[in-house]
Amino acid sequence: MPSTLLFTNATLVTLGAQPQVVHDAACWIENGQVRLFGPSRDVLEVAPPIARLDLQGRVLMPGQINAHDHLYSAFARGISMKDEPPQNFLQILQRLWWRLDQALQPEDVYLSGLLGFSEAVQRGVTTVIDHHASPGCIEGSLDRLAEASLQVGLRACLCYETTDRHGAQGARQGVAENLRFANRCTSERNGKLSPAMGLHASITVDPETLQLALKEWPADIPVHVHVAEDRCDVDHSLEKYGKPPLQRLLDEGLRGREVWAAHCIHLRPHEMELLAQPGLTVMHNPRSNLNNAVGCAPVRKMLQMGIPVALGTDGMSQDPAEDARTLSVIHKHQAADPQSFSYDDIYQVAFVHPARLASRRFGLQLGEIACGAAADLMVLDYDPPTPLHSGNFLGHWLFGLSMAPVWGTWVAGDCVFLKGQVAGIDSAHLKTRCREAAEKLWERW
Ligand SMILES: [Zn+2]
Repeated sequence: MPSTLLFTNATLVTLGAQPQVVHDAACWIENGQVRLFGPSRDVLEVAPPIARLDLQGRVLMPGQINAHDHLYSAFARGISMKDEPPQNFLQILQRLWWRLDQALQPEDVYLSGLLGFSEAVQRGVTTVIDHHASPGCIEGSLDRLAEASLQVGLRACLCYETTDRHGAQGARQGVAENLRFANRCTSERNGKLSPAMGLHASITVDPETLQLALKEWPADIPVHVHVAEDRCDVDHSLEKYGKPPLQRLLDEGLRGREVWAAHCIHLRPHEMELLAQPGLTVMHNPRSNLNNAVGCAPVRKMLQMGIPVALGTDGMSQDPAEDARTLSVIHKHQAADPQSFSYDDIYQVAFVHPARLASRRFGLQLGEIACGAAADLMVLDYDPPTPLHSGNFLGHWLFGLSMAPVWGTWVAGDCVFLKGQVAGIDSAHLKTRCREAAEKLWERW
């Protein structure tokens, strides 16, 4: 599929600050960007004779952005626990994730990435922000993930989860892996890879490790860390540092930096004020929070205070739309008030803030169809059973459009998924390799 292309006969949804729906639309993409879009008659009048793709009325809109993911969790699907079932979040970490990540080998990291990124583009995702852990093979692990993301063709912002769980040497290796990968991204500048400094959470990152991580870390590259996901993180921080985790992390060097703080559920009242510092974004993962029974982040209040909140899947699946649908119900349920979380709130968290965050990281206009924006697009097989217009896009997204089959996905103007096929990937062969890898992993974890 050529990267210069004219989509015709589209139902176009722009997203952006105010989503516009244009029926009988065309969109001309060139050199990885949107050159022109709008009513067909306007675009066709000026577009040169280039390849056309008739969408037959399908919905053309910006690709999805997943603001917080853990691709390494792929092989947990269907796994049997080896210990007693976990009774709380810390035990979920100890008995599932910290056992599983330790058993990962480089090939598992690559395959879990290839599987996850493939599943992502099949759901129209064009950018994934991942938080990776494989303590048994730290060095080079982000390269294995990057290899997978480049093979699939989507944009990936990667970091390694620095932690003291494996002693000072493991912590040093985690920091080094983040630095090494950041240097690689800086020298390559390929537009599809971006780094962050990964830290697990206050509960497993000692002050010395935090200082080591920040010492050489460039101030303009974000720090991606879990904050107050469960009460255990808060209790540990209060006991050890005499202050809650967000305050502790800010006091020990994160203040003034770009910080991506995943979860932020159990915050003290004064920490809400601390969240409102420039450069801090909360990554909200509602399905994961429900699944781990850790609580519900005060997202409405965060938005009221002007704190950016961006939606992620936290490894639950590769489809942020599922979290958008959960987002639309969890906060109303929590507040026992159907008016407590508006469509605008949902739109900000599901679309506006992820787009801003990803645009900043990649230095491109992402998450919006606009002239000059990146041609990161998805096409959905959706024939609306009720009228679809600029004023009711979100209602369609939550109750139909987001569940519609994805017909095609483009990243930087290149087709990465079309009609059930991920470009350049033999899906059946990949699944065979994954099953074999998972079986071995399940034996040794
Ligand atoms: Zn996470």
